Amino acid sequence: MKISVVGSGYVGLVTGTCFAETGVTVTCVDIDKKKIDELKNGIIPIYEPGLDDMVKRNVEKERLHFTTNLKDSLVGAEVVFIAVGTPPDEDGSADLKYVTGVAREVGANMDHYMVVVTKSTVPVGTSHKVKKAIQDELTKRNVNIPFDVASNPEFLKEGNAIEDFLKPDRIVCGIDSEQAKIFLEKLYKPFVLNGHPILFMDIASSELTKYAANAMLATKISFMNDIASLCELIGADVNWVRKGIGSDSRIGNKFIYPGAGYGGSCFPKDVKALIKTSDENGHSLEILKAVEDVNDRQKEVLFKKLMKHFNGNLKGKKIALWGLSFKPNTDDMREAPSIVIINHLIKAGATVRVYDPVAMEESIRRIGNIVEYAKDAYDATTGADALILVTEWAEFRILNFSMLGKLMRNKVVIDGRNIYDPIEMKENGYKYYSIGKNPLD
Ligand code: NAD
Repeated sequence: MKISVVGSGYVGLVTGTCFAETGVTVTCVDIDKKKIDELKNGIIPIYEPGLDDMVKRNVEKERLHFTTNLKDSLVGAEVVFIAVGTPPDEDGSADLKYVTGVAREVGANMDHYMVVVTKSTVPVGTSHKVKKAIQDELTKRNVNIPFDVASNPEFLKEGNAIEDFLKPDRIVCGIDSEQAKIFLEKLYKPFVLNGHPILFMDIASSELTKYAANAMLATKISFMNDIASLCELIGADVNWVRKGIGSDSRIGNKFIYPGAGYGGSCFPKDVKALIKTSDENGHSLEILKAVEDVNDRQKEVLFKKLMKHFNGNLKGKKIALWGLSFKPNTDDMREAPSIVIINHLIKAGATVRVYDPVAMEESIRRIGNIVEYAKDAYDATTGADALILVTEWAEFRILNFSMLGKLMRNKVVIDGRNIYDPIEMKENGYKYYSIGKNPLD
């Protein structure tokens, strides 16, 4: 079987590589020439554990190819996946210009039947737009080539993308033709040998499923962050409350950890886009509007704790910040809480020295030299008046107190992920602030 995957970012590259792993011949396409050149030279443009080995293996076996030429990728392809970005437009709706642009290019170049599958996260109705864009191009060319469209949203998590793709909880496919179902069933069969389902449904339901899933997860996070704020006011400990509710199987213990607010390339934009879709259809999604507000507030919580500790004056203070990516095991900094915190700190007159195990280059690209870049975690704390932990990378989990004690000017730690033990911190002489629990005296 031969397929084309258009868009070679986090989703497209993982999708293409994982299909190649099952023996499918895959061409990954991107308009970013630098990215494709890098991939051709064995350089993986994103950080995703396990991806480089898998890409290398499949390139060597000649099952995985890279090109900037979409037309070439269509030769002999039975299925085309559209996996380009759908960033938020100014009004919060999903910007579909990349998706429809690819659809037009497919229509302008296809010469045989194929199934065009939208894997990007897109609002309900987009598959119809994709269908129309392809058909318009075929009409312009005055040719009659049959094709089908399908929706196949992706649920992988950055940082665990390979595992998620190879062993998905479920695969969601929106179809309106038997032929599309046959192709998708064939492609995905190797991934559901564990018994997890391929859910075939109508296209609108499939498109909405992706947004509803992300919106539900974002809701859990904001709910818990809101409860954490209340805990601090009434003297409760959110860690106990979390365990207390998480052990109820109806609630479950995932996605109820309080923190510095959700970020990344998906939750913020997908929550916005779903609100917008619903508004456009005359229904206000009140819960999700509150989820967004709570999240915006939460991204400021660590900064506010620091301000309070220093009596509202951070001028001239040196702040060490650990963790720039929006979560561990990725270099993705899109909508990362670290950026909000850094901007506040700098505005307040502090200098910020940062460290992240993999997102340093990405940070230089995104925010440049407004911060100092340390060579390792402890280097970041040299002369620091406080340390803020924003992203819970594994290497930050156990503190080297003797080193930290020698390096920091002031023993203040703001823990945005509740990974340290308040008693241990106190015993080692630190003023320690966490989320949803008042500091020990
Ligand atoms: P990304 O920005 O990492 O990659 C998108 C790629 O598409 C870029 O490399 C870009 O150059 C390329 N592109 C844009 N226009 C193109 C064109 N006309 N032809 C070829 N390539 C083109 O984005 P991503 O994170 O992979 O997300 C892609 C989609 O998948 C989005 O809709 C996103 O919401 C969804 N999604 C993302 C994740 C995630 O964790 N990142 C998870 C599930 C779903």
